Amino acid sequence: LPKVAIIGRPNVGKSALFNRLVGGNRAIVVDEPGVTRDRLYGRSYWGNQEFMVIDTGGVITLSKSQAGVMEELAVTTTVGMDGIPLATREAAIARMPSMIEKQAVAAVEEAAVILFIVDGQAEWYENIFQAGLVAADIEISDWLRRNYADKFAPLPISAITGTGTGELLDLVCSELTKFEGLDGFEEEKSDVPAIAIVGRPNVGKSSILNALVGEDRTIVSPVSGTTRDAIDTEFTTADGQKYKLIDTAGIRRRAAVAAAGSTTESLSVKRAFRAIRRSDVVALVIEALSCITEQDYKIAERIEKEGKACVIVVNKWDTIPNKNHQSTTFYEQDVREKLRILDWAPIVYCSATNGTSLEKIISAAALVEKERSRRLGTSILNQVVREAIAFKPPPRTRGGKRGRVYYTTQAAVGPPTFVFFVNDAKLFPETYRRYMEKKLRTDAGYPGTPIRLLWRSRR
Ligand code: GDP
Repeated sequence: LPKVAIIGRPNVGKSALFNRLVGGNRAIVVDEPGVTRDRLYGRSYWGNQEFMVIDTGGVITLSKSQAGVMEELAVTTTVGMDGIPLATREAAIARMPSMIEKQAVAAVEEAAVILFIVDGQAEWYENIFQAGLVAADIEISDWLRRNYADKFAPLPISAITGTGTGELLDLVCSELTKFEGLDGFEEEKSDVPAIAIVGRPNVGKSSILNALVGEDRTIVSPVSGTTRDAIDTEFTTADGQKYKLIDTAGIRRRAAVAAAGSTTESLSVKRAFRAIRRSDVVALVIEALSCITEQDYKIAERIEKEGKACVIVVNKWDTIPNKNHQSTTFYEQDVREKLRILDWAPIVYCSATNGTSLEKIISAAALVEKERSRRLGTSILNQVVREAIAFKPPPRTRGGKRGRVYYTTQAAVGPPTFVFFVNDAKLFPETYRRYMEKKLRTDAGYPGTPIRLLWRSRR
């Protein structure tokens, strides 16, 4: 589901808006170690568009020292109104510790649309009473502008009475439509799995695509606007299964013509990121003879983070001389070592020029796509967890306390997400969480897809 993130400084009404948008659909609470507050996820609908709303809640919190700076800032700004140059105020803002915490960043990173909330009422008094807090708004808006959005569409709403929320939802949905490319005929093929073909320039993405779909490819959605920079092609396998291939390669050439070869590495990584976001499965193409680079790693990291299924495609396998079982094993170890973050992804060795093993890319993609949306029965799940705990119980704290798992449930698919209801999530250290994930994988499978384990304290 596409995601809509609600962000803003404390007390502007983020939670009220979240509740209005999701009603009783509050679904998953994401808890990551080392993060001060959870982010809340809830499903919402408007018309026939479904999306996930993320509340960053009290994410942007003020520590004591920050609160101190805020007071100071309020004073400086008030004085500023009496004639002190703006520069003083800006300097004060620059000194202010960043209030944009990890959770907000994570929420914004995964969102298709960002709702940046400010307090309309406060604006009324801003120059008199709330100058410091308005500076917080500015800090957030500057950060958004720098990193994510070049234009804001302002809209007055009341989360409590609902005034303006219809217009807000219209706007959100029209943005989501752009983002997803859901124009007109998109509807009927929404259940066609999308495979993004990504990788560094020249690894053979276009060659693979051409070999797979041939010359008579039907372009599903040509490039348009600024949000779309890949070409989608529909593709039917011999056994009649349909896929959408998201191709980031063809574009490079066009862009290269336009920008006279100035396409930078970071640009191609960003393009890969956007293709990953729209996909269900990512075929990460690397080249047999060359090393795995920082760029490959960045893409791999993003695949994991976005919870997409993945197949690692080692192309140009024909260029490796005297292949035998041993050299393949050796090669595989190297790839595993360098792309450890994708240690669950299958590897396919192929040659686009010779046409060898290309069909394996599709069969592997089909398999991992199914795994990504597989539900594990509750009884099997709890049995796996019980056995894992019996084999290795959570560590005891110095005070003699020990974590207890009451029960486990699969809250979501795409990627499979398991919620562990426990006595106290803090009693489950990172190492133990990793152990449990490993155990789930060995006992319940899930090749080719990331899985998520969430630990919820319940008293
Ligand atoms: P892209 O930038 O990732 O789309 O890469 P291209 O598909 O344009 O391929 C880059 C170059 O690698 C071209 O010269 C291709 O002919 C060559 N190439 C692609 N696949 C293979 C392969 O499997 N084996 C060999 N030897 N060369 C390949």
